[in-house]
Amino acid sequence: MEYKNSEIWFITGAQLLYGGDAVVAVDAHSTEMVNGLNASGQLPLNVVYKGTVNSSAEIEAAFKAANNDKRCVGVITWMHTFSPAKMWIKGLQSYNKPLLHLHTQFNRQIPWGEIDMDFMNLNQSAHGDREFGHIVSRMRRNRKVVVGHWDDAKTRQRIAVWMRVCAAWADAQDMVLVRFGDNMNHVAVTDGDRLEAEMRLGYHVDYYGVGDLAEVQKSVTEAEVDALVTEYERCYTFADSCKKGAKDHAQVRHAAREEIALRRFLKEKGAKAFTTNFNALHDLNQLPGLACQRLMAEGYGFGAEGDWKTAALMRTMWVMAKGLPGGTSFLEDYTYHFNGEKSAILQAHMLEVSPEITVQQPRLEVHPLGIGGKADPARLVFMAHAGAGIAATIVDMGNRFRMIANNVDVIEPEAALPKLPVAGALWIPQPNLEVGAAAWILAGGTHHTAFSYALTNEYLEDYADIAGIELVTIDQNTTINDFKFQLKVNEIFYK
Ligand code: MN
Repeated sequence: MEYKNSEIWFITGAQLLYGGDAVVAVDAHSTEMVNGLNASGQLPLNVVYKGTVNSSAEIEAAFKAANNDKRCVGVITWMHTFSPAKMWIKGLQSYNKPLLHLHTQFNRQIPWGEIDMDFMNLNQSAHGDREFGHIVSRMRRNRKVVVGHWDDAKTRQRIAVWMRVCAAWADAQDMVLVRFGDNMNHVAVTDGDRLEAEMRLGYHVDYYGVGDLAEVQKSVTEAEVDALVTEYERCYTFADSCKKGAKDHAQVRHAAREEIALRRFLKEKGAKAFTTNFNALHDLNQLPGLACQRLMAEGYGFGAEGDWKTAALMRTMWVMAKGLPGGTSFLEDYTYHFNGEKSAILQAHMLEVSPEITVQQPRLEVHPLGIGGKADPARLVFMAHAGAGIAATIVDMGNRFRMIANNVDVIEPEAALPKLPVAGALWIPQPNLEVGAAAWILAGGTHHTAFSYALTNEYLEDYADIAGIELVTIDQNTTINDFKFQLKVNEIFYK
């Protein structure tokens, strides 16, 4: 269980028309199903069975209880028999958390020799779930519909994806995001409506002067710096100039001091994500690079140059991916390698790439930073491993947030990059650079992304549905013609 303080509630719809015995049977079957789901080991959250609901009052009470219980991050509904759906109106009107409609049935197969009318009346999910689905659609309410037998691995996997998104959604609802300074002057795509973000996506964006961080830095002791540098020595390969006694070692100690101060500051504020800005460093010795890299690997969302939208999204994607292999990071489109169908983008940043996305032992190096006008910052240098992943961003279109997702294939570079002083990833956007980059640009996508190896389109689709925001996906099937059409249709939909 990756999400210890969260759970999913399971509510079974029924009615009293078929008699008390039927309700007892529905209850027993539901209990067996929920026990089976939990015993499968496939689900990242515990499912708690909350009984059958047989009237409008019971349904409303169940959903209101779900709203008010902090542990509950989502509700699964299922109709074993027929549940007249006018009963669901009041409950659905009040419910304000994610909803999954599990369209399954207790028995896997029709018992050919035994089936009679009593069996039909008890096992009519095919019928009752359509009635329920109608009212949810009639109320224009987003939900995930999962179809399949509850004891199939594929069905449970789709529930597991949604559960991870529910956990990340709940995490975002009390997310505090700290910005040191504002977003970088004149940059358009990193700006946006922070009020709308809090109302629509849940997280709260706060501003602090970088001097507030410099103040905390004064409280860091030499003994604390010693201990953290020892941890660096254990985890990373030090460049010769960074070793104890060598010329850049003092900069490694400055980086450790910044990391301790930054972590302390974020903990004090209860923050889950943060941004920095190389244009506003004042009393800091250098741009915190190593600190951002290591904090990202701990699950803090990060965005450079004040990019709070990407910082929050990175945190949310990290929470979705918690415990899954592969890693999640902030990245930036930097330089192209034009090479026909294998044309690729070198992803990197000035310093800040999470070591979660590499299988190499990172090298700790110190180099000058051409911008910012401060001392040489320490950073971890590595290349991301090969594999499929997904890059995503959220942009503010003025009247709505648009999420843009692109499936990408990370590849090994053709040769070593001995002079590249930062971490990076080389990827081919699907379906290829020509179409992938064109679609991304037409959609107004950022140069910053949140990237994960662990997630698929299904996670982001579930997230966009829960948030009620636009999602456009660029994948193997994208053509520019269809993509432009989708953007135009969406303009009307979100008018
Ligand atoms: Mn940047």
